[in-house]
Amino acid sequence: MPAEATGEIRCQICGVVLSNAIELEEHMEVHAEQRAEGEPYQTWHVCAFCGQKFATPEELRTHHRTAHSK
Ligand SMILES: [Zn+2]
Ligand SMILES: [Zn+2]
Repeated sequence: MPAEATGEIRCQICGVVLSNAIELEEHMEVHAEQRAEGEPYQTWHVCAFCGQKFATPEELRTHHRTAHSK
């Protein structure tokens, strides 16, 4: 069964799951900008508190819980 049958689209660069092709297209602009700036092919989710970078929103959320929750 092709992956498209699940209705989910996964970014081949950072692995983030998007719900449709339009979202993927918009998401890919992030990588295009990073390419222009010479950054690695990665969608960084930057912590607003300490500036640490995370590959996925889930990792950032976990970081917030573990490092910045009181
Ligand atoms: Zn991506
Ligand atoms: Zn942080």
